[in-house]
Amino acid sequence: MTANTDAAPISTATSFAELGLLPELLKAISEQGYSEPTPIQRQAIPAVLARRDIMGSAQTGTGKTASFALPILHLLSPHASTSPSPARHPVRALVLTPTRELAVQVEASFRAYGKHVPLRTAVVYGGVDMDPQIRAFHAGVEIVVATPGRLLDHVRNKTANLGRVEILVLDEADRMLDMGFLPDIKRILQQIPAQRQNLLFSATFSDEIRRLGGELLTRPILIEVAARNTAAETVSHKAFEVSGDDKHRLLAHLVKSRDLKQVLVFTRTRLGANRLARALEKDGINATAIHSNRTQAEREKALADFKVGDVRILVATDVASRGIDIEDLPIVVNYELPFSPEDYVHRIGRTGRAGSSGEAISLVEPDEHKLLADIERLLKRSIPRETLTIPGDREREGRRPASPRPAEHAHAHATTHHRAAPAQRAPRAAPVATDGFDFSKPYEPSAAPTSSKVGEATHPGKAKPARQRAVLLGGFGTK
Ligand code: AMP
Repeated sequence: MTANTDAAPISTATSFAELGLLPELLKAISEQGYSEPTPIQRQAIPAVLARRDIMGSAQTGTGKTASFALPILHLLSPHASTSPSPARHPVRALVLTPTRELAVQVEASFRAYGKHVPLRTAVVYGGVDMDPQIRAFHAGVEIVVATPGRLLDHVRNKTANLGRVEILVLDEADRMLDMGFLPDIKRILQQIPAQRQNLLFSATFSDEIRRLGGELLTRPILIEVAARNTAAETVSHKAFEVSGDDKHRLLAHLVKSRDLKQVLVFTRTRLGANRLARALEKDGINATAIHSNRTQAEREKALADFKVGDVRILVATDVASRGIDIEDLPIVVNYELPFSPEDYVHRIGRTGRAGSSGEAISLVEPDEHKLLADIERLLKRSIPRETLTIPGDREREGRRPASPRPAEHAHAHATTHHRAAPAQRAPRAAPVATDGFDFSKPYEPSAAPTSSKVGEATHPGKAKPARQRAVLLGGFGTK
């Protein structure tokens, strides 16, 4: 970024052992099935081990978590102790994340990699009972992964003492700033020693991030592996041009004709996510929605069901999807394109991970063409437009919007016959679901509406939603 950064030295290490990690960590790595470090791991691990600050441009899917978790475990291992005394287990590493999903996954990674090192880890986020978290702090814990709001609650209640923190990680810092966490982060910084190692990871280096980096980091090593537009290298992109009315039919057809077993589908709004999940269910396709209006338990269950294959389609909104880590997810569908092209990159970051190939399909209606062009500009590549014929549905073809590019036919003549229905909208969801969720009710903030934290847009709309998703995400990070 600026003249005050150092480029990461080119590491020639091709194995984790060459990176100088402890045997206990190497054992856990091989149990995870990792054969060699990813590019960000090759660069970040030696830098963290050398106690350098880091400014890392990397997104989920690149192996970023291990790139900081492994060297942190290595550096803290001299403090590993089986002593029951809380005094022997002060908080030494603090990882801040924007969402609870990401916090859960990062902490799980620490636990997996640190399986053979007796360091304690805890995950701390809002929306759940504080008591187990309080007990973890009281018992003593070396590594804490937290969302900022709930961590501050613990600081205020004096259940968390951060006075011995040696290493601070800001994960997905850009998203934390987007969500209005900067004041919370600053408050947390006042609680931790000034003398410490700082690792900042962000998908983008906006001016705000640079400013934060400038305040936080001392001569950081700059690591730019998966620049935000390169995570897609292993992902094939395509866009199906459809009218809005056809989207649901087309998706159901794609899933059935290709016998897709695990598809992550994105909508812009929670309402849209619920509606689509219910419409797919009516088509006999197991689907569920994950978004910030669902309880933590519901979200965890939805994700778990999807991971084990009980649910075939997970419909997610951008905010809820952050940090979702599903190994080898073969396909991501953009049912609606995001207003921000960066969100497209985050969405498709869920497929084609760690070198495996993935597929990103977008269902694009005419008024989304501009959004698609913005995405192509960011990716610096064009996304092929395709048309798809639903068998028995030829009479509809004449109404298909003209493609600005030559259209190819891909999977075009899929074998499965979908019912040849006249034009229809996705079936309207019943206003109140069996679980009591009221689909027709607009979102009403339940917490104090003074927070500047952001969440998802409640209503679909053509205009770019103001980034004022207040309070919802307070539900993630605070209470
Ligand atoms: P992350 O970018 O940290 O979200 O990691 C993305 C995925 O890559 C996770 O499922 C990790 O388990 C996996 N992963 C991380 N490092 C490696 C590696 N060196 N080899 C293979 N998979 C990895």
